[in-house]
Amino acid sequence: MNFSELKEKDKEYIAGTYNRFAVDIYEGNGATLRSADGKEYIDFGSGIAVNIFGVNDREWKDAVISQINKVQHACNLYYTQPQADLAELLCKKTGAKKVFFSNSGAEANECAIKAARKYSFDKYGEGRYEIVTLKNSFHGRTLATLSATGQPAMHKYFMPFVDGFSYADPNFEGVSGLCGKKTCAVMLELVQGESGVNPLDKEQVKKIAEFCKKRDILLIVDEVQTGNGRTGKLYCYQNYGIIPDIVTTAKGLAGGLPLGATMFFEKCEHTLNAGDHGSTFGGNPVACAGALSILKRIDDQLMLEVQGKSDYLKTHLSRIKNVLSVTGMGLMLGLEINGNAREVADRCLKKGLIVLTAKNKLRLLPPLTIGKGEIDEGLRILNEVLSE
Ligand SMILES: *Cc1c(COP(=O)(O)O)cnc(C)c1O
Repeated sequence: MNFSELKEKDKEYIAGTYNRFAVDIYEGNGATLRSADGKEYIDFGSGIAVNIFGVNDREWKDAVISQINKVQHACNLYYTQPQADLAELLCKKTGAKKVFFSNSGAEANECAIKAARKYSFDKYGEGRYEIVTLKNSFHGRTLATLSATGQPAMHKYFMPFVDGFSYADPNFEGVSGLCGKKTCAVMLELVQGESGVNPLDKEQVKKIAEFCKKRDILLIVDEVQTGNGRTGKLYCYQNYGIIPDIVTTAKGLAGGLPLGATMFFEKCEHTLNAGDHGSTFGGNPVACAGALSILKRIDDQLMLEVQGKSDYLKTHLSRIKNVLSVTGMGLMLGLEINGNAREVADRCLKKGLIVLTAKNKLRLLPPLTIGKGEIDEGLRILNEVLSE
């Protein structure tokens, strides 16, 4: 099937929810992808921060295939070792006490929202259920996580939305101002991804964390995108010198397989009990085996490499004509540009570079293992496109 036939079939049978880029992803190696016609693309997107060790990573494939050769699924009525091993590793590396596994970012956040409400119910009784999130946040596409998402443009059609969310300016004044007697949690992204790769200010975040602690308001950090080494630490909160009560993650966690995790720290370690929550697929052994092979390798050495690549990219990106600013941390970068981001991304693609957009910014999320040659080739194409 050639590409135009594929496009036709997709249009005929797939619900039209995606404004896809004009390329089919067929295979690849590392941060170099190929379409079915053999054309090569440098990957500055990782399938939205998912393929953190790139494509065709030997160790990851071995782990996944070896688990497939044993059993592909068990469900959570039974024990499986990859799930227990992964939960242990996550806890040991973060200080979290318990993990709930799901399949996606939205589900990880859904679980965090439920747990925050239950924590408060257990301790204070009914009525203390409100959650303060931030303006321009993104927490997912289910009704609760969409309700948590502080973007009015996304609150259309699907009403009524879930009650109890309010949206603060992304600073201490904004957040503390919206916290009242009914507030059980504050939920935030430390680097807002979908809305333009905007990191929150460290001092403001520290003040928010202290404020939450004093009021017994749970601090939920959504690390669906920032997690798993993306920002130069295993989890981004480690850049901020805070310890959240709940951390959610997904995207990069299993290196390309669907897996979400909600990590509970000390306060809410015992909040969820038998029957309170569940998932048929959550913590699937194949996904967990893949995640184990990834998580084991997110070490200090890799994080130093990520920080080095980040500095290199930031330096060279800021020198490109028509780049107005570079924001972000680690290998999660946003470029404010002169021009329309989607048009620029389409033109990059034509020349063999995959980049993402976030609002009207370009968003770069390359695999953490991207090579120097691949980075330079990507920079060359970006430079060419933005100088036109
Ligand atoms: C992508 C994303 C989500 C939603 O994740 P899905 O796996 O698409 O459900 C939630 N929060 C943040 C910060 C994200 O970047």
